[in-house]
Amino acid sequence: MLFQTPPQLMKTSTHHHGNKFSAFFCNLFGHHYVVSKKVTQHIKEYKCIHCQKEVTTDVSGKLSALTPQMQEINSTLEEMYQKRKSRVVHQVA
Ligand SMILES: [Zn+2]
Repeated sequence: MLFQTPPQLMKTSTHHHGNKFSAFFCNLFGHHYVVSKKVTQHIKEYKCIHCQKEVTTDVSGKLSALTPQMQEINSTLEEMYQKRKSRVVHQVA
């Protein structure tokens, strides 16, 4: 390592959470999410281009962290959505 912090400087630097600069940027300006996957017409997965944080639209339409459980739900939803889409029904409910 080229830039090793001398021990006497360690106590002055408040080391919050071991995140990168990008996370700091996100804290200041907010995440910059781009759609990483379209699950259904209303549910999408997003990824922050700065810190790679992944979120998804949940059932209530809000963004929540993309946990393995959410990924599983989304893939199920996607499957149902694709099936429904292939069976085009020209009918207004
Ligand atoms: Zn971010």
